Amino acid sequence: MNIALIAHDQKKNDLVQFATAYQNIFAKHTLFATGTTGQRISEATGLSITRFQSGPLGGDQQIGALIAQNQMDAVFFFRDPLTSQPHEPDVTALVRLCDVYSIPLATNMGTAELLIRGLELGLIEWRNIVKENGGMNE
Ligand code: PGA
Repeated sequence: MNIALIAHDQKKNDLVQFATAYQNIFAKHTLFATGTTGQRISEATGLSITRFQSGPLGGDQQIGALIAQNQMDAVFFFRDPLTSQPHEPDVTALVRLCDVYSIPLATNMGTAELLIRGLELGLIEWRNIVKENGGMNE
């Protein structure tokens, strides 16, 4: 599965801890991340991660483009609900695209626990069927 990892600054420590705790599961998948988040996680865990631009410089949009191309299977996006972000429109667009394409999205630790365990149990294998069929809009 292709998995995206993104965390706003105040949530980066949480996502690094989460990725560290579940690195054995993450290691079985293909990982993508926005710039700083990816750097922090790969330094902490040694996981191999394809890094895009930093979120405020377009990284969220790059991940959104993969969702639109039916190439992203799950998104862990630890948003900071208490701090305004300069790239708020990009954040909204990314969440919206997850909803457009029914991509599992965890925006906080509570849901992330469920998503990672679901991933391990094979509960999003239906994504393979969607991909084999060329995506929901084709
Ligand atoms: P970053 O981007 O991982 O480069 O910090 C995430 C964000 O703030 O959207």
